[in-house]
Amino acid sequence: MRTSEVNMAAAETDRELPSALCSEFLNFSAKDTAAKWLQATDLPNEVYQHLARYVPKIYCLGPNLNPQSEDLLAQLLLQAPLEWYLCGEEPSVGLAKLEQSNQPSQLCGHVFKVGEPTYSCRECAADPTCVLCMQCFLGSVHKEHRYRMTTSGGGGFCDCGDTEAWKKGPYCQKHEPNISDSSQEDPLANLSADMIARTYNIFSIMLRYAVDMLTWDKEEELPQGLEPPERGDTYYCMLFNDEVHTYEQVIYTLQKAVNCTQKEAVSFATTVDRDGRKSVRYGDFQFCEQAKSVIVRNTSRQSKPLRVQVMHSSVVAHQCFALKALTWFSHVIRYSDALRRILCQVGLQKGPEGENSLVDTLMLCDSKMWKGARNVYHQLVMSSLLMDLKYKKLFAIQFAKNYQRLQTDFMEDDHERLVSVTSLSVQLFTVPTMARMLITEENLLTTIIRTFVDHLRHRDLQGRFQFERYTAQQAFKFRRVQSLLGDLKYVLISRPTEWTDKLREKFLEGLDAFLELMKCMQGMDPVVRQVGQHIEMEPEWEAAFTLQMKLTHIISMMQEWCGSDERVLIEAYKKCLTALTHCHSGFADGEQPITLSMCGHSVDTIRYCISQEKVSIHLPVSRLLAGLHVLLSKSEVAYRFPEQLPLSELSPPMLIEHPLRCLVLCAQVHAGMWRRNGFSLVNQIYYYHNVKCRVEMFDKDLMMLQVGASMMDPNHFLMILLSRFELFHIFSSADCRKRYNRESANKDVVQQNSTLIEEMLHLIMMVVGERFVAGVGQVDSWDELKREIIHQLCIRPMAHSELVKALPENENKETGMEKVIDSVASFKKPGVTGRGLYELRPESAKQFNLYFHHYSRADQSKAEEAQRKLKRQNGEDSALPPPVLPPLCPLFASLVNILQCDVLLGMLGAVLQWATEPSGGHWSESMLQRVLHLIGMALLEEQQQLEGAVDHSEVTFNFTLKISRPGEAPSNTPSILAVLETLQNAPHLEVHKDMIRWTLQTVASIKTTRERTAAAPPPERAGGCQEETVRDKDKAERKRKAEMARLRREKIMAQMSEMQRHFINENKELFQQSLEELDASTSTALEHSPSSWDSVLVCVGPRRWRAGGGERRQVVTCILCQEEQEIRADGRAMVLAAFIQRSTVMSKNRKRPPHDPESYDPLFMHPDLSFGTHTGSCGHIMHSHCWQRYFEAVQAKEQRRQQRLRVHTSYDVENGEFLCPLCECLSNTVIPLLPLTKTSCSNSEQPGVMQWLSTTSQQIRVLHSAHRRAKATSAAETGDGESMETHPLPEGFRLDHTPVNPYSSSIKEMLTTFGTATYKVGLKVHPNEQDPRVPIMCWASCAYTIQSVERLLVDEDKPLFGSLPCRQDDCLSSLARFGSACWTVSSLAAVQSHFIRLMAVLLPDPQVENSPCILHVDMFHLLVSLVLSYPAVHCQDSSGLSIDVAQLHLLHLVTVAHLVQILLTSVQVELTMEQESGGVEEEEEESVCLLYNTLRSHLGSALREVSSGWHLWRTVRLGILPFLRGAALFFHHLHGVPTPPELSGNPSASSRPPSLPLRTPCQNPGGARPTCLMAFSPAPLAPGVGEWEMVCAYLSLPSNLLQLFYNHQELLQPLLQGWCSHPSLRQCLRSPETLIRFPRESNKLIELPEDYSALINQASSFTCPKSGGDKSRAPTLCLVCGTMLCSQSYCCQTELEGEDVGACTAHTFACGSGVGIFLRVRESQVLFLAGKTKGCFYAPPYLDDYGETDQGLRRGNPLHLCRERYRKIQKLWRQHSITEEIGHAQEANQTLVGIDWQHL
Ligand SMILES: [Zn+2]
Ligand SMILES: [Zn+2]
Ligand SMILES: [Zn+2]
Ligand SMILES: [Zn+2]
Ligand SMILES: [Zn+2]
Ligand SMILES: [Zn+2]
Ligand SMILES: [Zn+2]
Repeated sequence: MRTSEVNMAAAETDRELPSALCSEFLNFSAKDTAAKWLQATDLPNEVYQHLARYVPKIYCLGPNLNPQSEDLLAQLLLQAPLEWYLCGEEPSVGLAKLEQSNQPSQLCGHVFKVGEPTYSCRECAADPTCVLCMQCFLGSVHKEHRYRMTTSGGGGFCDCGDTEAWKKGPYCQKHEPNISDSSQEDPLANLSADMIARTYNIFSIMLRYAVDMLTWDKEEELPQGLEPPERGDTYYCMLFNDEVHTYEQVIYTLQKAVNCTQKEAVSFATTVDRDGRKSVRYGDFQFCEQAKSVIVRNTSRQSKPLRVQVMHSSVVAHQCFALKALTWFSHVIRYSDALRRILCQVGLQKGPEGENSLVDTLMLCDSKMWKGARNVYHQLVMSSLLMDLKYKKLFAIQFAKNYQRLQTDFMEDDHERLVSVTSLSVQLFTVPTMARMLITEENLLTTIIRTFVDHLRHRDLQGRFQFERYTAQQAFKFRRVQSLLGDLKYVLISRPTEWTDKLREKFLEGLDAFLELMKCMQGMDPVVRQVGQHIEMEPEWEAAFTLQMKLTHIISMMQEWCGSDERVLIEAYKKCLTALTHCHSGFADGEQPITLSMCGHSVDTIRYCISQEKVSIHLPVSRLLAGLHVLLSKSEVAYRFPEQLPLSELSPPMLIEHPLRCLVLCAQVHAGMWRRNGFSLVNQIYYYHNVKCRVEMFDKDLMMLQVGASMMDPNHFLMILLSRFELFHIFSSADCRKRYNRESANKDVVQQNSTLIEEMLHLIMMVVGERFVAGVGQVDSWDELKREIIHQLCIRPMAHSELVKALPENENKETGMEKVIDSVASFKKPGVTGRGLYELRPESAKQFNLYFHHYSRADQSKAEEAQRKLKRQNGEDSALPPPVLPPLCPLFASLVNILQCDVLLGMLGAVLQWATEPSGGHWSESMLQRVLHLIGMALLEEQQQLEGAVDHSEVTFNFTLKISRPGEAPSNTPSILAVLETLQNAPHLEVHKDMIRWTLQTVASIKTTRERTAAAPPPERAGGCQEETVRDKDKAERKRKAEMARLRREKIMAQMSEMQRHFINENKELFQQSLEELDASTSTALEHSPSSWDSVLVCVGPRRWRAGGGERRQVVTCILCQEEQEIRADGRAMVLAAFIQRSTVMSKNRKRPPHDPESYDPLFMHPDLSFGTHTGSCGHIMHSHCWQRYFEAVQAKEQRRQQRLRVHTSYDVENGEFLCPLCECLSNTVIPLLPLTKTSCSNSEQPGVMQWLSTTSQQIRVLHSAHRRAKATSAAETGDGESMETHPLPEGFRLDHTPVNPYSSSIKEMLTTFGTATYKVGLKVHPNEQDPRVPIMCWASCAYTIQSVERLLVDEDKPLFGSLPCRQDDCLSSLARFGSACWTVSSLAAVQSHFIRLMAVLLPDPQVENSPCILHVDMFHLLVSLVLSYPAVHCQDSSGLSIDVAQLHLLHLVTVAHLVQILLTSVQVELTMEQESGGVEEEEEESVCLLYNTLRSHLGSALREVSSGWHLWRTVRLGILPFLRGAALFFHHLHGVPTPPELSGNPSASSRPPSLPLRTPCQNPGGARPTCLMAFSPAPLAPGVGEWEMVCAYLSLPSNLLQLFYNHQELLQPLLQGWCSHPSLRQCLRSPETLIRFPRESNKLIELPEDYSALINQASSFTCPKSGGDKSRAPTLCLVCGTMLCSQSYCCQTELEGEDVGACTAHTFACGSGVGIFLRVRESQVLFLAGKTKGCFYAPPYLDDYGETDQGLRRGNPLHLCRERYRKIQKLWRQHSITEEIGHAQEANQTLVGIDWQHL
């Protein structure tokens, strides 16, 4: 109830109560009041007086309705006396007693909240509206069944315990009834008469009060007896909800009318929308009236104004309490079924003079009440009347009596149906016994249908519906009236098993009403073919089809009801026939009788040109009759009671006339004759065949043709067919076989006629061959379904959901497919992508019918292709003969005669004859194909009949004989068989050869069968040997043709590539070559096994491996100009496309507030890695100038595009973004490729670490003073630097030396470009190449990227080297080498001072202020920055000092610092753990203990005592390994040193016996020792096995790292002391919870539950954090941190950088520095966001049992977590590919670009 107003009103709720009131309240006694009531003679009056006195004193004393304090007072002063009176004692005691003696009903009745999960069982639910709440579901048998899960739209309740709702398992464990059948007992039996009387009294008074108040429509007065003792001039200006005005309109108006802020207005509008009304102003009458007039004036312009009332505060007060009273009822009746029954009784009791009961009053005023009031009383109805089986019936009867009035009110009202009392119909009508009772007692069926028809008044002259001239309002009404059809469906959903006479009578009465409805539809929306001009306006067609679609299931159910009782069926058939006859008499216009003659037969019919006269697609009466006719056949009523049926009245030509017209219309539309009628007709034809409608449209028309044809002479039937197809003249003349050829006047007409002939032949096939409906053919309903599935799968393997979509659903939304699918298909599980598929079983393919009636033309050709391919694969010939068909039912048996009648034979002969002339051109291949198919059908029919017959002479079906006869004189044409034999060898009929051969063989085989007498041996296929040779010849022929095809293809390819080359030459700079060729071009040759393999590979220090001159050379190809280029310092720059992004993927602290970008000093990375800058690349190389030209072209194109049309792109050019020209990967800068630095091995004596450090300190001191001097000179020109301390210059250090920049100008330019880009993106600042932070950001990005790669390799269980794709290798090399060169384009002094500050962390320097303590520095970042900044100092040294030596010293120093860092932070309490005996590493263990104790001596109690060296050493090893691996990656890429095979996952190396099993001590807090060795996976180089030594050796470090310390103790001891005495270090140690421990674990996406419904449940209880207590519409889960957000809504929008953004976008900036991964819970959809403008949806990691996701949760199959898919998403995130993924998705689907992602 309370929303955002709570916050605003907080001040008011705390207001002081008026003191007078206070004392009155203090003296109040509920007990005494109740006692007084017990004595009262006129109780109603007493109670009303009490209410009149207190209600206005409690409620509505301020501007806000319903603050909490009001409810509290109401509880004490108003409810308590009621309860005292009710119980006659202390209420808490009394109610508890009631509860104890209560025998609860077995109904659960849990009322659903919006978004709560609901469950239904596809196997056991009586209908799909039967649902269970989660608790009941989990305790039910259905969780093992095929269940469906949906989210509730609110309203409705759990059906657990309702035996009518479930075919099986109606109770969950909790609601299982007791053995004693208590439901029979009267719940009142347990209550004393006294109590019953009291309850009755108080309930009737209070319910009357509540009903009076809620239906009260006066603004000033109150009902009698409630007038307040004193009334002040206090009013509310009450704003009501409507569905006409938008949120924005209301917000805007309110700001004007009541002078509130936008925020307040939003809150008002939200409350109005939710509760239906909200007071927007409180004050005297004048004040409120003024606001009202402004609101009315402002909203009345376009529509009717918003409803506003100025209401006296006492009226509002009583309404508030009336709502409270209803809630109180719900609360009280929960204690006892008896109380509930009394309430029901009170509610449904009529007045003394037969007045409406209170419940009636409420219902009838429903549409006048505001939303909040309706919701409250609906809930009460649900928890009282609907929970009491006796009163539910009585209520249902009242509901049915009021039905028409309620529906009319609803039609006038504009609220959604959910808040209308009419929506309760689902609770009543779906109960089968109730529905049946209402049909018989209240004639419900007729009432519903009549009410519906009454509301559709617009008719044409013939009384048919006319939607064409619907106004907007009528259309709106039409939408609302459709809910009645929903009710009709509920009533019909369960078919009666037993019929009473009353039920028959009422059902047939309902059917009459239904037929009236059908008659209004028969022939509606007729179309006339447009000739000459296009139609001007697309005619309205959707309304009629909406109606048809909504009625589809109802029509089917009507038939099923009829089919369940013979008497009803017969009556219904008669009624339907009468209705049809009636319809026909309506439109018999322009039908002249004519006589048609052909092939010696003649028939009387009418002339009707479909291409000239009116045709309608809507023929529901005909179709209903067709359905009933088939039921007559199926139930055999037709044979058993023929005398009761009006069969003699049937006129077959009349029956088929309209359905035939409709089918011909479709054929003509296919033939292109109706093109000028526009899309409206195309759409209608589409839906006519569509799976949603066809059951009661196309299928039934076909059936009607079968009905008619089965009762006619087949020749007559076919002649009428020809006539309606307007093809009669073509086939009727005696020599039609020739004449058609010559009639070539108009090419279009010829083309049209060809298509029409094809369509007609197809129709004949369907009339004869579609026998899979029970009643037409001898099949059961599963055969029909199996056949549908088979034909879908003949097109291609399909996913479960695709199949479901292709199959018709019944009224329960079931296809029944699960029952049969396994018999025709096998299931194939999905991989990490894609979905599970059903594949057709090979044996089922035999039932394939190319002319399956539900195939569209596209389906047909796909299926044909697929099936031919299959046959070829199986080495069979390519003929696709018709399948063997099931026999027809007796009523339809004569249909087969169509196949051998003269007219058909004439037509077949004609087409075959035309086909003998290759260039005739007037026949088509598909025409011939159909003719062959028809012949095939006839042959199979004959074969089948022969097989079934005992005596062959009995078989009258003799097609073979008829086709062997030549045509009669005078034309003397050859027989069909003869023509076929001719065609067999016709070269132009190559494709049909197999089929013709199959036909001839079948003819031969039938003839043999016939020739044999019954005594003859069983038939053997003739000419086996001959057949063989034919097949061989055929094979050779096919091979030759395949060869020809290949040559032709090659020629075409050659032509195309020539054209392509041309194109490349013209568009050189933009052209891209195929990916595969180039992808590997950059991986340098030097990474392969070095020649000097025997020596140990070392990547850093003076002993490091060096490339020879030849190996150093690196040649790459530009993807744009295709030129090769060697990478040289003085050469043209080559660049890699790269993408830089901010990252929090490795963050250990997502709560750190963002830095101020302008002042932030990024030099030191905090070990929590909260923000980093990641650089990635697709690895594609270009010349810098080629790239620049490309980028300029992109920019220009974008400008042009923006001018032309406002389309967005997936990339933001203004921000420097572009797509890699080759792979379209999103990029925003380029990294220059640099050659390896040339350092020769220096032979001179190199300093040790001591000496080097002292030299460096000297150098630093000199630099300090130099810098200070420089600053001084620039600050004050006059200062002559006398104060300057003079430091002796270290030998060879030349301050005046300015190093020569080795790079070419283009490389220098690219160095600046990349540096600036990193700086800009990493800090989110404007580019400034002068900023001293530029190099820092570059080093940091290099370190961060390497760290993230190192983590990724561990997480993916991959070896350190050799497993990265080359694009990443190239990227890391370029990054590292760029880092070491970027100082050359920066200010030397700036870089030097960075180095100085970095060194100060390790080597305390009094001249550097604010140096961080070692616990606040990420050591890997420090190492990389030190190594990369050092060249700026080294360049001024000419003493011959090797830079390699310096790097090694730096590595040693940082390693020691990290070691100390780990000892300080990461030693845990696992001291109980037993040591590994027989320690192989005693030396290490001892020395680490020593070091730890030294640290303790410096820090004392800040470090806990640890004596286990074994434990310490393991902590250190585990903690430092990621650092060492990172360092190895870094130096490897910096220097291009080959990697030892042991680190590349070389199995032979890793399989050597591990000398040192390394364990993870903290995984085992219990202290149990992991079984040695087994704790490690045998995967190549799982961290530990041998890797330690290899990494240490590669880095030139001793494997006992402690030696680094002890070998230079005299140097390091003082340093150690310095580190420990840093002021903030102790402080850090004192708050261990914020300490970062090593190794840092990789971040994971949050754990998701196995069952998706757990998430839905979680989300359904999630409320919007901003509008207190409101349900969030789009709850969205951050998969990174687990926060649930209220996405896509106004309430949670916040401002971000000056723009309003939704909760998700805002969250990404805090949680993922712009990148976010979310799960939209209601949609079951993953959402990727990047920045404010980019986003895409991604398949969720939840799959159903069919291996499919359910985006949008439409199907409702149970969903389970697929870990592989979730891991894939996690991997995308960890490797920083989310933005790239979005880019690809947006490029692939442009509509994604237009979405306002920032509002999610
Ligand atoms: Zn339940
Ligand atoms: Zn239950
Ligand atoms: Zn079930
Ligand atoms: Zn180039
Ligand atoms: Zn690329
Ligand atoms: Zn988050
Ligand atoms: Zn919200």
